[in-house]
Amino acid sequence: MRSFSLVLATRNPHKVAEVKAILSGLDLDIRELPDKCAPVEETGATLEENALLKARAAFGCTGLPSVADDTGLEVYYLLGEPGVRSARYAGDNATYEDNVRKLLWAMRGVPERRRHACFRTVVAYVDGRREITFEGRVEGKILAQPRGSGGFGYDPVFQPLGSHKSYAEMSDDEKNSASHRAAALHKLMDFLRTIK
Ligand code: IMP
Repeated sequence: MRSFSLVLATRNPHKVAEVKAILSGLDLDIRELPDKCAPVEETGATLEENALLKARAAFGCTGLPSVADDTGLEVYYLLGEPGVRSARYAGDNATYEDNVRKLLWAMRGVPERRRHACFRTVVAYVDGRREITFEGRVEGKILAQPRGSGGFGYDPVFQPLGSHKSYAEMSDDEKNSASHRAAALHKLMDFLRTIK
């Protein structure tokens, strides 16, 4: 297999670390987004649209095969919210803590059996000839209180089905072996193996 350059269209260091760890099994020259590439406004109405917007922009800026992801936490009791608005749930400049606080407030008093949620990631691959998306999802529930100090975003309040730990209580390896992003990236890996 020949070495192959791939640009990660994100400036989120947590995501860069997760993606690099997951794709480390392939002989890839993984590059971070150069500073010259302008940030992209996530104006899409769906995770798919936003992932494609970011991957297309990175390809346009670098001329190299590019990968972007977009993730949303879909809470069934909230009819799929925050979903595509997960980053901005508590407002345009919201911090992770603001978003978690708003979510816990919206879910206050909701019984265990109605706290079902799903993390969904769409990874987009764009190389000038192909535009392909891969989806990964993990079902779980929203905890009543944050637990754990690892990870980022909604990790302290999301517990995957079948686990007794929140994402934030897991080691990086534990989260990476079963996360929504890992599921989408494994599909991307299968695809990359066919074109390398
Ligand atoms: P993004 O648009 O893909 O960066 O994700 C939107 C928001 O979802 C982020 O700001 C985080 O709050 C949240 N998010 C994305 N991935 C994860 C994750 O793996 N764990 C917890 N929260 C996440």
